[in-house]
Order: sequence, then C-alpha cells, then structure tokens
Amino acid sequence: MSASLSICTIFKNRSSLALEDQQLQRALGNVQKGFIKKRADAAAGLPEFEELRDRARDIKNHTLEHLDLYLERYEEKVLEKGGKVHWCADAAEAREAISRICAAAGAKTVTKGKSMISEEIALNQHLEAEGLKVVETDLGEYIIQLRNEPPSHIIAPAVHLSQDQVEADFRRAHQELPADRNLTEPESLVAEARSVLRQKYIEADVGITGANFLIAETGTSIIVTNEGNGDLTQSLPKVHIVIASLEKVVPTLEDVSCILRVLARSATGQEMSSYTTFSTGPKRGEDLDGPEEYHVVLLDNGRSKMLGTEFQEMLRCIRCGACMNHCPVYHSVGGHAYGWVYPGPMGAVLTPSLIGVDEAGHLPNASTFCGRCESVCPMRIPLPKMMRHWREQEFEKHLSPATVRRGLAFWRFFATRPAIYHFSTGLASRLLAALAGAKGRLSALPLAGGWTKHREFPAPQGKTFQQLWAEEQKKRKAA
Ligand code: SF4
Repeated sequence: MSASLSICTIFKNRSSLALEDQQLQRALGNVQKGFIKKRADAAAGLPEFEELRDRARDIKNHTLEHLDLYLERYEEKVLEKGGKVHWCADAAEAREAISRICAAAGAKTVTKGKSMISEEIALNQHLEAEGLKVVETDLGEYIIQLRNEPPSHIIAPAVHLSQDQVEADFRRAHQELPADRNLTEPESLVAEARSVLRQKYIEADVGITGANFLIAETGTSIIVTNEGNGDLTQSLPKVHIVIASLEKVVPTLEDVSCILRVLARSATGQEMSSYTTFSTGPKRGEDLDGPEEYHVVLLDNGRSKMLGTEFQEMLRCIRCGACMNHCPVYHSVGGHAYGWVYPGPMGAVLTPSLIGVDEAGHLPNASTFCGRCESVCPMRIPLPKMMRHWREQEFEKHLSPATVRRGLAFWRFFATRPAIYHFSTGLASRLLAALAGAKGRLSALPLAGGWTKHREFPAPQGKTFQQLWAEEQKKRKAA
C-alpha cells in the first residue's frame, strides 16, 4: 500500500481497476456462489440459530461493559498457568514486545498462523527487517506471502486468485519442485504447500498465532482453523506467542461455546470448523509436547477509545466474514480495494475507528445500505447504522468532497420547497422515462458518469412515488 495516498484515494483507484479486472470478477463470483448458500443452509439447519445470535450478542455486550474486569481476570489466569501477558497500547509497542521475545529466544525462523491483528501491526515486515525468516502457515496466507500481497478477505485471504495463478506462484517460488509435477488439482496444490511447510514447522524457533477468543475464566486462547496449521505453529516451536486485540476476551468456556456455534455457520457454513484448539499456558511437566514459553501480546490500538461511543458495538465482531460475503460492494471491488487490513462492511466501520475518519472516511460511503450485512451478522452488529454515523462525522468535519456538499445543498433547496420539489421531480421522471424508452434503462446520464460507466441506470417509471401513491389510494377508495 502506498504511504503517500489516502485510503480514500486508494479505494477509488483500486475500485475502478477491480471493475475492469475480468479474472478478479470471476473470483469474486465464487464468493457469492460459495459462501452465501452454505451459510443459509447452515442457519436453516439449526432451529435455535436466531436465539444463539441473540445470546452471542448479549455475551459480548456484557463483556464490553466490564472489559477491564475480564481482562484483568484473564491476565491473572494466564500468569497462574505459567504464561505472560504483554499489554500493548499501539502497533509499535506490540511489534517491540514480539521482537524482544524473539530476540530472547535467539530466534531465526518464525512460523505464523493466520492473524488479522498481525496484518494490522505490519508484523511480518517488522520481523523481516530485523533479519528473521517469517513463514505463513495458513494456505491462503502462504500463497499471498509468496506474492507479497495483503489478504483480500478476512477468512479467505487468497480468494481473489485463480488456481492457475497459485500454480504459477508455486512453480516460481518452490526451487525443488520438478517441472513435470502435476499441480492442476486443488489437492495437488495443497500437497505441494504441505511438503514445503512441514519442514518450516520443525525449523521454527517461535510460533505466532492469533486468537479467535481469550477466556477470562481459564486464561485460555482459542484458535479456529480448517487446516490444523495453527496447532503445529503453536505446539512445535519452543516459544508460542498469541497476538490478540483486547475485545477478544469472553468470560467463560460456556459463553464461548455459544459463540462458536454461530461463528463457523456464519463464516463457512460448517457446523464447527475442523479444528477448534484451546491453548492454556506453556507445556507442563507431564505434557509430551508443547511450547516452553507462552506469551500473550494484548493489543489495544484504538479499541478502548471506541468504548462508550456509537461504535462500541463494532467490538462484538468475531471476524466471521459473513458481512463481506453478502455485500454487493465487496462482490464488485474485492478486498484489496479497501486499502487497509479490514475489507467489506466491517472494514468500512472498523477502519475509520482505528485510523481515523480523516484518513478512511470514504469507506462508509461504499455502501448501498441494502442491510444484508446486518441481517447476516451473527453478532447482530448494526453496520449500516454505524456507517451512517461515520458519514455524519465526515460531513460535519467538512471532509466530504465539495461536489457532494453542493449536491446536498441543491437537494435541500428543493426538499424544503415542496411545490417546486413535486413539479421538478415529476418533470425529471417523465423526461428520464422518455429517454430510456422501452428498455427502461439509461446507458449515459449527465452527472452520473461514474455509475453508467460500468452499468446502466434504471429509469423511473414516468411518475414520482407520490404520484403513484396518490393513484393507488384513489383506486383503493373507488374499489
Ligand atoms: S461484522 Fe459481523 S458479519 Fe462482519 S465479520 Fe464481524 S461478526 Fe462477522
């Protein structure tokens, strides 16, 4: 990502490129085909699904109301089990804490499970600059690491790529790969990645994982994966580092069992992910394996400032990805367009919260407000409402473009003069309907070139809503 361009500019530029990119558009079509039906089937197959969503929301709400209490309890339990908690206010502190642990371990190679927080603090770049070899072990993350790209989806980081592209990356990066080896099937690609990664697990001095949840009652961190890579990452090296943001804490194991039931169903349509791994402290005397050191790097990075604001509810997010899987904007532009770590509707709310509305205020404008994100969010996060809050702030801070402000002033003039408003909208409706003809759609329209460049504009029916409503009422009275 370019440091000199704002997220808003990046979003605009990359969205235009994404709409022209045929390969990306095909890959984004797979997001719609794959995830939506699976989630719908999984939800329909569990009669208490809606009730579980309510409970999951209430558990997180309660936790956020008493976050200090549960975090302190969590730390107490981690210490009791022989682990250590590193409290980090921002990305720099978290990177520094991880560097110190790696240096103390004399580490040369670090394996990593999938972690959006490590993307947020640009951990790989930092460790590599310090001379460490960092190896991503989640298949999708491994692929994008070979390409030097960020994830394009929070649970499917390489969803923007085709199988052919992955094959080409493996042939380029894997020096030992025989030229005649068949890599045309997904299974053979997975086997190839596995053969390379197995050795890395053994070589690694430190394993870093994220955490889907931290349990206050036991000091446990939980990771949810489908590949088992997280288990090898955290159990084979001498040192295990968990990096997690502070809102990941949940009071009890019983609470997390409720949230886990909605997580996998919302994310991939599975009843449960293949691996749900609980990790509590370092290896004990009687354990056959496990790390000798267990560290938790607990990151704030702007979350505590969200508490008590209209954005607190965003901290309920469990990173399932359902909102982007159902978002028509994400389906059109993909994850890289969003320009920072978190794409889709959750990113449109979280990114301005973490890096500021000045920098990322345009993202909440990338919404049709169709409401699908909120309707599928397992934690019932009111994403559209929060995007509206960001739009208000963008407007109040005079960050919205002059054309938008002038457009709103123009609309206000008419909207506050009902007679002129009805006359002019009636005229415009008739005119646009006449221009569209039988097709009912316009392929060019003044002031709407951004829209009509990529798709046709549906023309009004020739009458305004008020006119149609009045006619309908008249018919009803006459009937
Ligand atoms: S906002 Fe909701 S749907 Fe989106 S990733 Fe978070 S929990 Fe999932």
